[in-house]
Amino acid sequence: MAEKQLQLEVVTPDRKVVSTTADIVVCPGVEGQFGVLVGHVPFLSALDIGEMYYREGGKTEYLAVSGGFAEVTGTKITIVAEAAEFGREIDVERARRARERAEARLAAAKTEQIDWARAEAALRRSMVRMKVAAR
Ligand code: ATP
Repeated sequence: MAEKQLQLEVVTPDRKVVSTTADIVVCPGVEGQFGVLVGHVPFLSALDIGEMYYREGGKTEYLAVSGGFAEVTGTKITIVAEAAEFGREIDVERARRARERAEARLAAAKTEQIDWARAEAALRRSMVRMKVAAR
């Protein structure tokens, strides 16, 4: 097993984001960040909104992930994400506007009923996108 490489696939409802090999993949699990190497025990994890990265031949690639699932086998990790973007794909202005809208909604919670979880998730997506874009 040791000589084998880990396969990584990231897909969203819209597209195949990446299909590659990796030395290590690190994901934002709902119960905390986890790393996967080839030979990992099989498991399934729900993903949080967060940053994921993988390393391949000394190069690290970062993606913003908006929740979903990761399925791990000994040779492959498949990520089915609600949305996922590489830093270079992220429109920073759009993410900034999304953050401003979410912050305004959360601020309005003092005087009106809002969908707190939805606004908070939008805020977290925008902040992760800005973080990954700045990598
Ligand atoms: P917005 O309010 O700007 O649409 P959002 O967080 O509601 O942000 P999502 O529903 O998570 O957006 O994503 C919808 C689609 O738009 C997905 O395909 C996602 O990859 C893409 N997307 C969202 N924000 C950005 C961004 N800042 N740059 C590039 N693609 C983005």
